[in-house]
Amino acid sequence: MSDIKELDHQYIANTYARFPVTIVSGKGSVAVDDKGKEYIDMGCGIGVTAFGYCDDEWISAVTAQLGKVQHTSNLYYTEPGALLAEMLCGKTGMKKVFYCNSGAEANECAIKAARKYAADTKGPEYFNIVTIKNGFHGRTLTTLAATGQEHYHEMFQPLTPGFVYADAGDIHSVMKLCAENKTAALMFECIQGEGGVVPLDKDFVQDMAHFARDEGMTVIVDEVQTGNGRTGALYSYMNYDIRPDIVSTAKGIGGGLPLGVCMLGEKVQDVFAPGDNGSTFGGNPACCAGALSILSRLDDKLMAGIREKGEYVFSALSGAPGVKCVTGMGLMIGVEPKGQSAGDVVKKCMDMGVLCLTAKEKVRLLPALNIPMDELKKAVDIIKEACAEGEA
Ligand SMILES: *Cc1c(COP(=O)(O)O)cnc(C)c1O
Repeated sequence: MSDIKELDHQYIANTYARFPVTIVSGKGSVAVDDKGKEYIDMGCGIGVTAFGYCDDEWISAVTAQLGKVQHTSNLYYTEPGALLAEMLCGKTGMKKVFYCNSGAEANECAIKAARKYAADTKGPEYFNIVTIKNGFHGRTLTTLAATGQEHYHEMFQPLTPGFVYADAGDIHSVMKLCAENKTAALMFECIQGEGGVVPLDKDFVQDMAHFARDEGMTVIVDEVQTGNGRTGALYSYMNYDIRPDIVSTAKGIGGGLPLGVCMLGEKVQDVFAPGDNGSTFGGNPACCAGALSILSRLDDKLMAGIREKGEYVFSALSGAPGVKCVTGMGLMIGVEPKGQSAGDVVKKCMDMGVLCLTAKEKVRLLPALNIPMDELKKAVDIIKEACAEGEA
């Protein structure tokens, strides 16, 4: 076999700084590399493999569908897409869903829906979207524009116009931007993921929701990373007691296959007409069959387990040697090391057989939602050991 790393460097565009590991297989929360070394995976393909590697139920659901029909285009009806939409709306109270293939695309749909709703109700000049500084909404030119972090914007100008950025936690900053710009929507992640696992304050989120409702604006919650059980609630907005008009999600919902969803609430449910949005692959029957298997298992018992495991990680790492702070909710956790960088800790963990992510200055943990307690404990012990070296 030719050297995988060499081939990758020669032929794959230079957009990723990969870790020096080639993963060849996995089961549950354990990944195996090409040398047979096993790792407990605390990153889950960036929060994607909700039930870990090669989950049996998910495989049966996907393969059964692959044996019937793998793709039809959106010119025809299919069963998995319709059933998944019914389940999503039933569990959230949202009214309609649009399917696409990624988080960025789900956000593109959310932005189109908000702009069209504003154009219909107030006028096309109400196109601005207020997002929150340090947020992350994707890599397309429009979702980059929505991302309130300058360093992502450099070199790709001009981006889609119509985005302004408010300070997290400051409702007056939001109100001021809305007064200065004719605004269609407020858009945010309840817990900023890529921004360093930073939860927004509950009061701030509720104030934004009330303000948007009073002003006839829509509220878009980006649940791409926080959604589908990750925070111990089905969607993170449920922890904040708000009702968004538009919810985008992706990552974990497909269990490892690409699926993005934009959910439309009552206010905006009829905003689109045929031709207003579309996607060739969106709602692929195999992806939707897999998602049905995932979503149907995200019940109260699993959520309670996610919260319990999250609390275990919090209490095990908070105040531990070499740990500055622990942030997040459920099984979406940021650990800020002292005396060394997050990257240093991730490297040490990898050597000791645990895969972690980073987000800004934090080590980011997004383990499988069903990670067994003994594996979680083992991984946390290793993370603890790696952090402690920063204080030594
Ligand atoms: C990952 C992420 C996205 C982008 O999702 P892609 O599937 O990579 O397009 C958007 N928003 C948030 C909050 C994310 O974490």
